[in-house]
Formats: sequence, C-alpha cells, structure tokens
Amino acid sequence: MSRVAYVNGIYVPHDQAVVPMDDRGYHFADGVYEVFSYNVNHVFVDAGPHFERLRASLAALNIPFSLSNHSLLIIMHELMRRNRCQEGFLYLQITRGIAAREHTVAHTLEPFMTLFIRPHVFKKDPPLLSVFTQPDIRWKRNDIKSIALLGNIMAKYGSFEQGGDEAWLINKDGFITEGSSTNAWIVDQHGVIRTHPGTRDILNGIVRQRLLKMVASLGFALEERAFTLDDALKAQEAFLTSSTKGVYPIVSINDHPVGKGGMGPITQSLQQAYWFFQHSLLQDDGKE
Ligand code: PMP
Repeated sequence: MSRVAYVNGIYVPHDQAVVPMDDRGYHFADGVYEVFSYNVNHVFVDAGPHFERLRASLAALNIPFSLSNHSLLIIMHELMRRNRCQEGFLYLQITRGIAAREHTVAHTLEPFMTLFIRPHVFKKDPPLLSVFTQPDIRWKRNDIKSIALLGNIMAKYGSFEQGGDEAWLINKDGFITEGSSTNAWIVDQHGVIRTHPGTRDILNGIVRQRLLKMVASLGFALEERAFTLDDALKAQEAFLTSSTKGVYPIVSINDHPVGKGGMGPITQSLQQAYWFFQHSLLQDDGKE
C-alpha cells in the first residue's frame, strides 16, 4: 500500500512529496506543527485541543491562517481515507510560506501546509522505558509547538547513546521540565502524582491535559509542581505521555531503577484509562 501526503492543496504519493527550496520552514524553521493520533473508528483523538494549541502556536508567531477547524478535518479525513490504514498518526505542519531568504517578510505571505500519515498500531501493553537526563538547552518559548527541535534532538541523541529511550531535560534551576518529545511525570515518595506546571518552559501536551482530568476523576493526589532529579530518583513510579505513545511507564532513570523497577499501579491505571479513552472515541470533537 503506497502512502499519500498532502502538499499545500494537492494529494501526492508520499515518496514524491517535496517542499520548495525557499520554504521558510527549510531556511529558518519558521513554522509550527501538530501530531494527532487516530483510532480504529477513524476519530482524531482530542482534535479540539490540538486545534486550539495549533492556533495558539500560529498566533504566537504571527502566522496568519484562515482555514477553519472544520476544513482542516475534511482534509485530514480525506488523507486518512487515501492512506487506508486502520490507526496511526497524522502530522500537520504549517510554515510562514515561500519567500526569498530574508529574515523578515510581509505578513501577507501565504502559509504553506503539509500533512502526512504514519501508520501505527497502539498496543494495549506498553513497553517499559529507561530515560537519561540531559541539560535543557532549548529556547524560552517551549509552549509553542515550533518545528525548530534541535535542542530536543540533541538531548534525545545524548540519551540514546547511553541506551536510553527518552531524555529528561533539566533546566538551570535543577528542575526536570519535560522529555525531548514527551511530558514527564512521577509518583513521588508521598504517593503524589507530579508534573511540571503548564508554563512557557514546556509544551503543554494534549495527553498531559487529558490525563490531568483523568487523575482528578480517578481521585489520585496531584500537584502540578516541578520536580528535581533527586525527587525522581526517590519516586515510587515514573511515566511519560504523548500523542504517539499515550502513557508509557519509565522503569529506570540514569540507570537507577524507579521504585520496584516495573510498571507501578498508578501508572498502570492511568495507562489503561487513557488507552480505553483513546480507543473508544466515536467522533471528532474538533468541528465548529
Ligand atoms: N513535550 C514535547 C517537547 C513534545 O514534543 C511533545 C509531543 N509533541 C509532548 C511534550 C507531548 O505532547 P502531546 O501530548 O500533545 O503529544
């Protein structure tokens, strides 16, 4: 089955999809993106909050964008249909547009939008992950879902080279902000679920936001308060969240086992709660 991509209005075979040389995404990483997961019912999970974050990112960068959520969903469903895969991810990228390489351009430039799909089967049983910490050398607006991800990629390589699955980023004050492409959580030594607050220092994950609601409804103790490496090493449990993973348990940090070294009970209930939520959705919530 050949994959299909969408390049600014045209559906093309994925391996023939190209972006113009003067796309500002290529010259300056001047653009934003979103990653949606979709389930076997062909529903984009939490599409509404994804669109909200997309528009906040576009607004922060002053990129004018006139397509409605409804129009976006029509394109997304058409791409899903053409790719004929049961479930997976959809990547949507919008750059400021095409222009000769100058740092500033007219605000009237037409944005350039590309979409592609990656098939993926979401397994009910998650893998057990290990993380290594890395310095958080990124910029000061990590709340914007920018396509500029070099700081994240350098951190992920730093962890991969030690055999880790993900990097946890430590800022100059000694707090863990988030993972290189995921949000970071612990169940601390008092049994309280902790994650960094949704400030400009992290990307406020859509799964993070969904999980905060689930934690409240399941009655677990929760604090949106940053934690240190020391807190993490003393934690009973640790896990990460993202749209491409859902909830995955972390069983070792810098080669030290977390808690008893397996998936903890709180992580397991949240992992299952999210999995069932993701797989039982019957319709998109992003229509206006
Ligand atoms: N933080 C970063 C840096 C990310 O790249 C991602 C995934 N895009 C997340 C957190 C998780 O966000 P979401 O739950 O919206 O996938």
